[in-house]
Amino acid sequence: MTETRTAIVTGSGRGIGAAVALRLAKDGHKVAVIDLREEDTTATIEAINAAGGQAIGIGADVSNSDDVAAAVARVTEELGAPTILVNNAGILRDNLLFKMSDGDWDAVMNVHLRGSFLMSRAVQAHQVEQKWGRIVNLSSTSALGNRGQANYAAAKAGLQGFTKTLAIELGRYNVTANAIAPGFIETDMTRATAERVGVPFEDFIAHAVSEIPVGRSGKPEDIAAAASFFASEEASFVSGQVLYVAGGPKG
Ligand code: NAD
Repeated sequence: MTETRTAIVTGSGRGIGAAVALRLAKDGHKVAVIDLREEDTTATIEAINAAGGQAIGIGADVSNSDDVAAAVARVTEELGAPTILVNNAGILRDNLLFKMSDGDWDAVMNVHLRGSFLMSRAVQAHQVEQKWGRIVNLSSTSALGNRGQANYAAAKAGLQGFTKTLAIELGRYNVTANAIAPGFIETDMTRATAERVGVPFEDFIAHAVSEIPVGRSGKPEDIAAAASFFASEEASFVSGQVLYVAGGPKG
């Protein structure tokens, strides 16, 4: 029987984060659904409630330290000390290097890297106190390099080093840290990429699938299943790992 913990999932108003939040709720955990605006969390909260779970929605920008401090304080007060953290919030600012602006670079670093750092630093205090914790960071197959994504690839590769370091520092407190590196997952993020390059989403998916060994695109639930495992009691000896969930070795 799974012990009920308090989980925070960032960027969980939609897409992969929403599926992870719902899955953790179905696993028996209380879930804080964090996204930029509190109203963005409504659909996820409703899905969790409909599944018999318990959740609260919080509006916070993960790259803002005041927002992060306030969000973690509210979670602690309303749901109890958070000991599961999924750093999922993410954005794209794709461009070829010669066209990439300072703003494109900084925005991506701020949400993925600074956001994961701020959330992890705030939550580890509770994990260390409870002598139990799980941190799951969303990397990407783009960490291996992807045209037009110098900023995003650097951030997603950076998250892998961040994850391994958290695993080393926090292991003694029974806190594990792992990363999931998804391949092509059907969400608003990949839909926006298709729009940007001017390809109908269905064609974009078909092209992606043609290069995926298992012959289908990924769904948010595929990532939620991996997050559920990393967050589980059974995964207590798995730490500092990067799991590519891509229908093949690298999508
Ligand atoms: P998405 O764009 O559908 O959802 C991202 C969510 O994060 C949105 O709800 C957005 O509002 C929120 N968000 C953005 N900036 C935020 C901030 N500063 N503070 C709080 N919330 C913020 O994206 P998705 O496809 O569900 O991706 C989720 C994660 O998975 C991201 O980290 C992404 O980089 C990663 N990923 C996605 C894919 C894919 O194919 N979709 C592949 C690899 C990795």
